Amino acid sequence: MSRALCCDRPGAPLRAIERPVPAPGPGELLIAVEACAVCRTDLHVVDGDLPHPGRPVVPGHEIVGTVLAAGAGANHAPGSRVGVPWLGWTCGRCEWCTSGRENLCPAARFTGWQIDGGYAEHVVADDRYCFALPAGLDAVHAAPLLCAGLIGWRALKAAGAATALGLYGFGAAAHLVAQVARHQGRRVYAFVRPGDATAAAFARDLGCEWAGPSDAPAPVALDAAILFAPVGALVPAALRAVKPGGTVVCAGIHMSDIPSFPYAWLWGERVLRSVANLTRADAAEFLALAPTLGLRIEVETHPLAAAEATLARLRAGQVSGAAVLVP
Ligand SMILES: [Zn+2]
Ligand SMILES: [Zn+2]
Repeated sequence: MSRALCCDRPGAPLRAIERPVPAPGPGELLIAVEACAVCRTDLHVVDGDLPHPGRPVVPGHEIVGTVLAAGAGANHAPGSRVGVPWLGWTCGRCEWCTSGRENLCPAARFTGWQIDGGYAEHVVADDRYCFALPAGLDAVHAAPLLCAGLIGWRALKAAGAATALGLYGFGAAAHLVAQVARHQGRRVYAFVRPGDATAAAFARDLGCEWAGPSDAPAPVALDAAILFAPVGALVPAALRAVKPGGTVVCAGIHMSDIPSFPYAWLWGERVLRSVANLTRADAAEFLALAPTLGLRIEVETHPLAAAEATLARLRAGQVSGAAVLVP
């Protein structure tokens, strides 16, 4: 038997279940989960900010594990270590899939939302969407790369060639993106929850030029800003902080409503855009790059049974870096 936690409906506490160890179908992998990082998107799933799939679902989409069995046609062999990300399946035929933008596939299915995820001892995943992981990283430290790292990387690319980069919300993704950006020679400015001295100190410690409250003006005019905090009110604030021609990237899957603001704040060819999901190409790129960056991946680990309390810590902004569940 295999233990898992599932979300029956939005707002309900996670329910522990025991199910038979699932069998992989053709092209699928059965994976023994070693670590699953906790993402803000998991909160959006269990809190109902995202539409619930209408059946009990096992959250978790930053999974590292060992392949126990491989279905016919799968490429990853039993015994190999793989990562399972958010993007779980795409149609391969639509205009987005056929133009290098599978992240926008309208039929896409996501791990820990439409597909049962990694708050479990075992997970079954489509082999084509699983990745080999850099050697030399243990499962707990590799797990946050699977979403915080990958989507952070996609967001950083969307920010363009910015020298002065603002990061709004300094959680799992920002703590990695800040280090990647520093490694690329950029200057990073961290905007944290007002009053969160711990997050500000953490950001400075990771090489940020400045760290201060998100309701304060930026210390310098920014070339670009990435919003990881799900707070719509930060969008106009970030637009005001970027120079003419600057870009504001909204990297979260859900955000509270954006208040109206004067057109003058967008004027000057400022660009406001979102980043949605990831492509497998983003993952290949970032996972090849990650070992060269000397990343300090800050994690706190919790047993699977403490998932509910871990989500509460994330909701309350108490996690420094990434929280990782270990079954
Ligand atoms: Zn995520
Ligand atoms: Zn498609």
